[in-house]
Amino acid sequence: MNAAPASPPKTWPVYGHTWAVHLLQQTLTTEAAPSLRRVGPSHAYLFLGIQQVGKTTLARAFATALLCTAGRTTPCGHCRACMLMARGSHPDFHLVQPTNKDGAVDRDGGELRAERANDLVHDAALRPLEGQWRIFLIQDMHLANASFSNKILKTLEEPPPQTILLLTATDRKRVLPTIASRCQVLELRPLDRPTVAQALLASGQANAEEADLLARLANGRMGWALEQAQHPERRSERLTQLATLRRLLDANRIDRLDFAASLVSKRERDNRELFGMLGLWTTWWRDVMLVQAGCDDAVSNADQLDELHRQAAVLDSRQVRAALQTLQQIDGYLHHTVNARLALEVLMLKLPKMEGSRS
Ligand SMILES: [Zn+2]
Repeated sequence: MNAAPASPPKTWPVYGHTWAVHLLQQTLTTEAAPSLRRVGPSHAYLFLGIQQVGKTTLARAFATALLCTAGRTTPCGHCRACMLMARGSHPDFHLVQPTNKDGAVDRDGGELRAERANDLVHDAALRPLEGQWRIFLIQDMHLANASFSNKILKTLEEPPPQTILLLTATDRKRVLPTIASRCQVLELRPLDRPTVAQALLASGQANAEEADLLARLANGRMGWALEQAQHPERRSERLTQLATLRRLLDANRIDRLDFAASLVSKRERDNRELFGMLGLWTTWWRDVMLVQAGCDDAVSNADQLDELHRQAAVLDSRQVRAALQTLQQIDGYLHHTVNARLALEVLMLKLPKMEGSRS
């Protein structure tokens, strides 16, 4: 991405999660510090944490450090292995992602499927082509179907000597216990607001005001904040989604059901946008509650204080709490249930009404 620096980088390209970086560094061979006798990497790691908190970024950085040939605990950025990793074409690094039925990557509604596990088990038994390790990064293990899990369990039980599996998942409860117990587990917590804001500023992709707002909205998800900073059009998308919510609060039953129907067809095309909107609405209701409690400083949607105050004054706190609970319930249903239409209709009909606001 950037031009090669004159001196090697001093840290991993990871924001926050310092303890995890240190822990992983201790497993690396280093010529510079022979006193640090290496224990060597485990054959499997499970990175846990909410979406876009940095699990894949950390796992990739670890893979690069393992494959880097410079013999340091930080990837050098210059060697052939580092270059290939940066281009995403190292022959000993394999990315395994959930897909939809047509085989396209789908990290919201897709699955890790048996066919992919067959390839993985086969490839994992082969020796590395270039480096010391053959590394598999399996994203979203919580989306693995039963046969995928059972197949890779074999590889975890009898790991080929030069194979390392890096798994990510949002929730340990959604990973087969027999799998989690065979991995070293690293649980990444959401980053605090100042860390996210400083990282955005340092990246040069946001000014101080934008960095503050994005850090508030990010809820500790560095990846989300960076993505928003890199795509300014997402910000107008957010304002549109908030305007939609505002409109729905005034809308009648028929309009709300129409909107639910439009969401159902949207879901078929783009899951991510729908879940993004539900996530945004969740932060919105939390903010209304915070304003009702007199905690204006803590809100995420800091650029919308006037509207938050208007709604906080009109709606009573039980309505707001109920709206938040419904959203969380529906979000859960949409990840599991087949009847999306029913779930979305319930969501729309249960939204509070703002009629009282009309003067
Ligand atoms: Zn290197």
